[in-house]
Amino acid sequence: MPCQLCGLDHQQAHTLCHDCWNDLPWLKQHVQRQHCQILAACHYQFPIDRLIHHYKYQQQLHYQTVLSHCLLQLSLPKVDAIVAMPISKQRLIQRGYNQMQIIAKNIATQQKIALWQPIIRTAQHSQKGLSRLERLQAIHQQFKIKAEEYKRYQRVLVIDDVVTTGSSFVAMRDALQRLGCTQVEFACIAVANSKIRPT
Ligand SMILES: [Zn+2]
Repeated sequence: MPCQLCGLDHQQAHTLCHDCWNDLPWLKQHVQRQHCQILAACHYQFPIDRLIHHYKYQQQLHYQTVLSHCLLQLSLPKVDAIVAMPISKQRLIQRGYNQMQIIAKNIATQQKIALWQPIIRTAQHSQKGLSRLERLQAIHQQFKIKAEEYKRYQRVLVIDDVVTTGSSFVAMRDALQRLGCTQVEFACIAVANSKIRPT
C-alpha cells in the first residue's frame, strides 16, 4: 500500500512512509493553556492540519490510523480510561461521527484500557462577539454529566484533535472532577497558536 500522504513510498503501520512520518511537525511536549497541562503530539501546521481537516469534515475516515498513531507516539500517562472530547448531538448529526470517539476507541484497544464517555455536550453555538469571560461561561455550560452516569474511573485521559485556547479542556476537567475523577490528563494531536483559529 502506498503512503497516504505522498502516495509514493510504501506505508508503514501508521499508514505514512518513513519520510512523511518523520517530517510531520512534531512537538511531543506539554503545553500550558489556562492552568491545564496538555500533552501535544504536533504543531498545528501542514500537513497535520490538512489531515485533521479532511478526517473531521470530509469523511476521510482512513486518516484515523495516522492520527491515532500520532497520539500513541506520546508518553501517555497511566490512566484507567480514555475519554474523547464530546461533540453536541447537533454536530454529530451534521458530521455523522465524533472523530475523536473513533480515535479514542483505537487508543483504548491498543493500550488495553477502558473507553468511557460520561459527559454530554449541549448545542455548540458560535462564540463570535462574546467577551472572553462570556465565552468561558458558555463553554462551561455546554458540558453536562450524563444523568445515569456514576463514578467508574478515577484516572482518565481526555483527548482532542486541535487545542487552541484550551477552554473545552478546562470545562471537561471541571465536569469530570464533579463526577469524582481524581486525575484528569489531557492529550491532543495538534496545538495551534491561540491567536490563530483552526479552520
Ligand atoms: Zn510518504
